[in-house]
Amino acid sequence: MKWRLGEIDEVSCSRCGQLNDHNDLDRILWCKECVDSVLSWAKARSWVVGVCIGMVLCFWIWIVVKPSNMLIGGWAGTVLAAIYVSARVTREVLYGAIRMKTSPESQVVSSDEESY
Ligand SMILES: [Zn+2]
Repeated sequence: MKWRLGEIDEVSCSRCGQLNDHNDLDRILWCKECVDSVLSWAKARSWVVGVCIGMVLCFWIWIVVKPSNMLIGGWAGTVLAAIYVSARVTREVLYGAIRMKTSPESQVVSSDEESY
């Protein structure tokens, strides 16, 4: 992949393989479209995980805590905060995991193997 740098200022994205200006690629050579697509993929799944955790928490509050009507608003806030936080954490973890899989180190290893 590096030989391209000397000839033209375009580098292929390490995920989709499309040629992009070197400045448009990020640290691990991903184009903006790939970053956006993975971010939205991770975001969609993180909300599912967040809502699941929120439902479990609701269930736990309902069965174990048995809040009075006066406190139910506070517990609703707690559940919403838990959904938000767990969705955010899940998004970061998913995004990080996908980026790890396509890190430049693994790219170098695979291209070296091909050239032998
Ligand atoms: Zn790409």
